[in-house]
Amino acid sequence: MTFNLLAALPALIPKAIEWAEAHSSFIEQSGQPLNDAFLAVARSVGVLHPELIRVAEVSSLPLPEDLDLKLAAIGTGLLGPGMVGLTLGYGVYVCRGHGSIRLLSHEFRHVYQYERASSIAAFLPVYLHQIATVGYQNSPLEIDARAHEKHHA
Ligand SMILES: [Zn+2]
Repeated sequence: MTFNLLAALPALIPKAIEWAEAHSSFIEQSGQPLNDAFLAVARSVGVLHPELIRVAEVSSLPLPEDLDLKLAAIGTGLLGPGMVGLTLGYGVYVCRGHGSIRLLSHEFRHVYQYERASSIAAFLPVYLHQIATVGYQNSPLEIDARAHEKHHA
């Protein structure tokens, strides 16, 4: 990685929180609530309030306008090509055609993680610090989400 994310984190975290909160609110307004099958999937990965989850289908995940934030998101692979889901609090972005049980169970486990952390502002610094130190694939929160992926409802 040519970009020193760890050094940049203190400046990036407030911008990342602001961006994530704005998108979470947008999904809250525009997204769809879960049907019974997906409510059960969310419950099965530990989500306390699956009725609050909203899913917004998009053609591609949104990128931050802020250049530093955008470079960091792409550089770490968080919003790079090939990423088809993103969870921001109770808001889940899913790229059209990728709304499988496997992807949604993974994203719902991130919802559980946000619930444990209590807020976007509490979750993101921990998550981004993990990614800055051990990388996306090896971050404990991603390992936990992968471990809770379901292949069937
Ligand atoms: Zn994940």
